[in-house]
Amino acid sequence: MSYRPEKPALSPEGRSYALAANETPFGPLPKVARAIQEQIEGINRYPDNSGQALTAELAERFGLEPDGIALGCGSVGVAQQLITAVAEPGDEVLYAWPSFEAYPLLIRLAGAVPVAVPLREGVHDLAAMAEHLTDRTRLVFVCNPNNPTGTVVGRAELEEFLGRVPPGCLVVLDEAYHEYVRAEEVPDGLSLFPGRPHLVVLRTFSKAYGLAGLRIGYAAGHPEVIGTLRKAYLPYSAGSVAQAAAIAALRSGDEVARRTDIITAERTRLAAALDARGWRVPASEANFLWLPLGERATAFGAHCATAGVSVRAVAGAGVRVTLGLPADNDAFLAAAAAFPPA
Ligand SMILES: *Cc1c(COP(=O)(O)O)cnc(C)c1O
Repeated sequence: MSYRPEKPALSPEGRSYALAANETPFGPLPKVARAIQEQIEGINRYPDNSGQALTAELAERFGLEPDGIALGCGSVGVAQQLITAVAEPGDEVLYAWPSFEAYPLLIRLAGAVPVAVPLREGVHDLAAMAEHLTDRTRLVFVCNPNNPTGTVVGRAELEEFLGRVPPGCLVVLDEAYHEYVRAEEVPDGLSLFPGRPHLVVLRTFSKAYGLAGLRIGYAAGHPEVIGTLRKAYLPYSAGSVAQAAAIAALRSGDEVARRTDIITAERTRLAAALDARGWRVPASEANFLWLPLGERATAFGAHCATAGVSVRAVAGAGVRVTLGLPADNDAFLAAAAAFPPA
């Protein structure tokens, strides 16, 4: 995964459009900016290692038990804690591909064995994933909506899959883009807990809430699993500014909804515009679109960069473009229109 800093693409006019990392294009939420300002006073003090205030806020807001919530340094940090806590070297961790690039990286870091199951027509192939479960499988990631394709699995298929995974194997439902979902068939992972102690839901403040630079996310699940997860917590890795900002972000629901509505409207507009020009774009429930360009992906990414538009090209597979403000998306559309046909 390219976590290396990339030079932003620049157009000949010196313009730059950051559509590569699925960030929100909006600046800090007003309440978040104030909360961060207030935190400066106490910056010489350590953060609350148990994250009590944020945990309580999450519990109340989502109807969860506080001991069913674990905070971490981004949801990537929480995912790493999970893998470290449950997988021994040689154990297998299952995930779809292409999916979130951090999964294989984190699995290898823990000394576990990554097992990738190809998407089927751009969608998680849960039946094939169930067939790949072995007695060494400790964990299965299901990214819903999936990064980089934006595609989703519905409630019925997900529930059936959860029923096929044995109790000794955790299912980690990564809902990093939950706030952008508008399709009714997509379940809220938090509603699936009753009777399923092996389900863990990952959420983040990095995407719709706009706190990618602060590094805070969380897992929700059965208190026993969450207790194990907390033991793998790197002390103080959820900082005080991040915790306070996350609380303020949760209290900014109306503004977050207004912003995600703008992005989902852009999703509809851009998908239609691409479709009208003959691009095949799978239906996305996230803040990005996926162009399955296959062998032309890298060339398309380089072409966009010359127009100042940074996108994420996955070599040999496709290109993911984050939905930005209308002007950003128009710059992308213009670049795409100028890409020479095959
Ligand atoms: C962006 C993203 C995350 C968020 O990672 P953070 O560490 O919380 O910034 C998690 N999962 C997926 C699939 C993502 O795309």
